[in-house]
Amino acid sequence: MNEPRLIQKRDIIRGVRDKWLRAYQSYADNYRVAWVDNRTAGEIRRHLHALDLETCSEEDVNAAINAGSSWVSNDCDMCGQDAETTLRIGQEPDYEARWLDLCENCVLSLSVHFHTKP
Ligand SMILES: [Zn+2]
Repeated sequence: MNEPRLIQKRDIIRGVRDKWLRAYQSYADNYRVAWVDNRTAGEIRRHLHALDLETCSEEDVNAAINAGSSWVSNDCDMCGQDAETTLRIGQEPDYEARWLDLCENCVLSLSVHFHTKP
């Protein structure tokens, strides 16, 4: 079993460069990704390397990638809201993820299920 662990938006921002580089490692620098402004993979790599991941904002990251959707959302698996902080519960086995990220409101709402008759 794994202890529940807090996931901060900053944790996701810290990991976004490696996540993007890994996902698009096979794309040549001159390859145009077909997103908002058709920028190249090389341009996105340069923008990502220019970011200070300790201080940049979510908007800075998304401006660097400009995919039309957020690369640093911290979505709650229960209500779907993008939260500043979530609690990760479950296990992270080698072959398949079995965890949930839950926002504070959803965690606080869960205990009622122990007191509700089926
Ligand atoms: Zn929630």
